[in-house]
Amino acid sequence: MQTNLKHFLVAFIFVLSCFCNAQGNRNEFVVVIDPGHGGRDSGTPGTKRYRTTEKDIALDVSLALGKLIQDNLPQVKVIYTRDKDVFPTLNARAIKANKANADLFISIHCNAQPKGKGTAYGSETYVLGLHKNATNLEVAKRENSVIFLEKDHEETYKDFDINDSESLIGLMLMQEDYLDQSIELAAYIENEFQTTAKRKSRGVKQAGFWVLSQTYMPSVLVELGFLTHKKEEDYLNSNKGKSIMTKALFNAVQKYIEMHFKLVNKAAILEKKQDEDDTVTQDIYPEITFKVQIAASSKRISTKSYNFKGLKEISRDKKGNIYKYYYGKTSDYSKIKTQLKHAKSKGYDECFIVAYKNAKRIPLNEALKSTSN
Ligand SMILES: [Zn+2]
Repeated sequence: MQTNLKHFLVAFIFVLSCFCNAQGNRNEFVVVIDPGHGGRDSGTPGTKRYRTTEKDIALDVSLALGKLIQDNLPQVKVIYTRDKDVFPTLNARAIKANKANADLFISIHCNAQPKGKGTAYGSETYVLGLHKNATNLEVAKRENSVIFLEKDHEETYKDFDINDSESLIGLMLMQEDYLDQSIELAAYIENEFQTTAKRKSRGVKQAGFWVLSQTYMPSVLVELGFLTHKKEEDYLNSNKGKSIMTKALFNAVQKYIEMHFKLVNKAAILEKKQDEDDTVTQDIYPEITFKVQIAASSKRISTKSYNFKGLKEISRDKKGNIYKYYYGKTSDYSKIKTQLKHAKSKGYDECFIVAYKNAKRIPLNEALKSTSN
């Protein structure tokens, strides 16, 4: 009995330390690439002049994108939701990305127009949201309709009505936190399609894609172009076209990573320097200082104002595996109260004032007692 307990404890501690390591080791940026469709779900067949369909082009571009990332950005880990011609469910794709605690989710598709409805062409990149027009809704419906090919879809998707995007609102809350970053990546992608690939961009759009609603990270769905448009279908079936579109996607992903995580090349050095900077600023604090704590997260986010609803003067510290984010820094209590109001007006409803004495966090009432404020 004693020995059993000991074995149990050893195993428990081992599992715990693995868990802690996994959580603490965020020097790695994880990108999940999701090639749309696959297996018995061919996606759009386009003009039917090719034997290949949407699923093949999506897979080719996805694998090439993953390879470019791995060859050029060694600290980025790439995970595919499928790397061959198989059919993972939409649900399985989202679960895989969430389990990997990924930092980005990129779903890759090709577009189609219903027969006789004109000859649209060009790329579109979607983020999750309520569609602004009927065309966006049609794209989302077409991409969501793969759920009907899944077994047990009534059970898995029981709260979701494909014809009613309002039914997605409840599910959308999960993506809400990441919407700004998703839009940012989508904008880089469409910009790259226009400049690097010299293609027509139809812009960044919003619609209710089920797969995007289930991921806990910035997520986009890319429509490379219309396979129902002959010239575009030719382009996307050509090796040249695919490699140019891949390069454009890579540039956009690289730019996003550079903006948000300074870990491409020499990341460790940068991180160390950042920590030293934090220490230095702490040493020169006046005796009592106040900040507004606005967020806490397991992710290390750059303190740029665009990541914090436009708030400037953002600082960060780390305790255990959690990064805390603060707005403002002053020894003047009335000033910090004004800054608290400002942060709340920006949507940080739960923010609060924290106090430090010689860079050590102390209870707020203790700080107030020892200041003349
Ligand atoms: Zn698709």
